[in-house]
Amino acid sequence: MAPLDPHSFTDSTHPLTTHVSLSLYFDFSSATIHGAALFTLSSPYSGQLSLDTRSLSIHQVLSPSTLSPLPFSLSPSPDPIKGILLSVSLPNDNSLSSFIITFSTSPCSSALQWLSPRQTFNKKHPFVFTQCQSIHARSILPCQDTPASRICYSALLNVPRELSAVMSARHVDRRLPVSGEGFSSLLPNGFNSLWCSDTRVVEEFDMSQPIPPYLFAFAVGELGFREVGPRTRVYSEAAEGVLEAAAKEFAGTEEMIRQGEKLFGDYEWERFDLLVLPPSFPYGGMENPRMVFLTPTVIKGDASGAQVVAHELAHSWTGNLITNKNNDHFWLNEGFTTYAERRIVEVVQGEDRAVLNIGIGWRGLNEEMERFKDNLEFTKLKTNQEGVDPDAVYSQVPYEKGFQFLWRIERQIGRPAFDEFLKKYIATFKFKSIDTETFLDFLKANVPGIEKEIDLVLWTEGTGIPPDAYEPVSNLYSKIVSLANEFKLGRMPREDEVADWQGQEWELYLENLPKSVEASQVLALDARYRLSESKDYEVKVSFLQMAILSKCRDFYGEVEKTLKEVGRMKYLRPLYTALVQGVGKEEEKILAKRVFSEARDCYHPIAQGVVESIFSKHL
Ligand SMILES: [Zn+2]
Repeated sequence: MAPLDPHSFTDSTHPLTTHVSLSLYFDFSSATIHGAALFTLSSPYSGQLSLDTRSLSIHQVLSPSTLSPLPFSLSPSPDPIKGILLSVSLPNDNSLSSFIITFSTSPCSSALQWLSPRQTFNKKHPFVFTQCQSIHARSILPCQDTPASRICYSALLNVPRELSAVMSARHVDRRLPVSGEGFSSLLPNGFNSLWCSDTRVVEEFDMSQPIPPYLFAFAVGELGFREVGPRTRVYSEAAEGVLEAAAKEFAGTEEMIRQGEKLFGDYEWERFDLLVLPPSFPYGGMENPRMVFLTPTVIKGDASGAQVVAHELAHSWTGNLITNKNNDHFWLNEGFTTYAERRIVEVVQGEDRAVLNIGIGWRGLNEEMERFKDNLEFTKLKTNQEGVDPDAVYSQVPYEKGFQFLWRIERQIGRPAFDEFLKKYIATFKFKSIDTETFLDFLKANVPGIEKEIDLVLWTEGTGIPPDAYEPVSNLYSKIVSLANEFKLGRMPREDEVADWQGQEWELYLENLPKSVEASQVLALDARYRLSESKDYEVKVSFLQMAILSKCRDFYGEVEKTLKEVGRMKYLRPLYTALVQGVGKEEEKILAKRVFSEARDCYHPIAQGVVESIFSKHL
């Protein structure tokens, strides 16, 4: 057994899966998917083949030609992070490079969130969506769940006919089910006979570009869409208000794609569609190829949500085309994407806006240093995540320290040379999964002598923030920081000083204030600027966090309301942490526990886990 990835049972001596062909029956009444899948390996293999699973029932493993059963075994107890090892025994004559597995998910599958009708916008139909990053694909289907493996897939999704489906794949057809099609006749628990029921429809998809398993994605619900560009539709629940607002917010998407192509080379994924999910989506966005998933909190009515779209779009080149080989090298996905996102923002929204983003990121990076001061491993770019749950150490470090590293190289060699280097890097490694060493070797080969100018080892393997990292300078940024410093001395900004501030200016202002101030100051700030009622969650949550830390209890009602209406972890984490961290906060701790017990069912399983880990650390 030679592991390939600290988070997977995949054995480096086994051939990797190149294609999966799926037939999936969605049973909303039991929050379960019943599946049959044909796995194709890169070469024929004999003996035990290791696959990752988590909370799956494995019914049968079959030879594809004869449909005769093949032996398999499951590890007796789950590894707390990796899940359960499925060993499939392939015959000793090296005759098989493919096999079929039939399986069912369970209602607690960590990648899936099943919403009842009352948890949706229209309250008429149920909804289900995936979030597979980093290691949750294994809770939907057995697989070699490591980004070192890249798979193509085809899928038949059998869903209730009043619903429709989207995937991170090309949509081939929506049609009536056909008896025995795909592997549907092998479905377990009698679901094979329900395949052609007249209440069902089949949505067919094909993904011919190889992707790491964490980019496998679907959503099923009552969906509608609006065309917003030649290769972009915005999808969401079919509710007029939601669709209109989303279409307006993302009207500038095609312009961003064109700018991305100028900077980084051709857009390789044909379509760039967007799906706005219900409020419980745990992230800001997820870069599922061809179909980006977004939280509705990015719709702010002022096109500033475009920045999250710029980030997910940038992943089309860095992350999705070139992928980190495993999560130890996550900065290769997120550092590059943060850099690329800011280059796109600079072109479409101006340099001031881009610098402001760098400033917000710089503040965030410094806060993460505080968070990890007793666990410095996770202040490194290249980390060792053996025995560590990637969701537990998810942070801004790979994003912002990674950004700072690339920005440092840009300052060293100049922008034109760095742009040329980036294009060559992307063209060289596209559709490959690589590690930090591969990047550094490529950098040294293409920028001779760079290691004499920049301490590459300190940047990639050292802890903390290197001395040649850089806090940005711009008039707007400096003005906001100095206004925040004046607040500490008791002066609030005047109306004329904040007249043209958008959400990001307020966010930066609030982040530069002391963590806790006098409750009277919090009340005075809100009386003048109504930040607790901001439609922009970045502003609202920053303000509420300060209110909690300042024990300004007037706002606890708003805190509770916010925790119950959104499930984005970026907001849950600071608010719950502020409530339960520290001594002498019995009232806050009781509030946190009560709100979580009432809101828990509305959170995605990944977000539930994050809140539970905050509680276990502080309660
Ligand atoms: Zn990202």
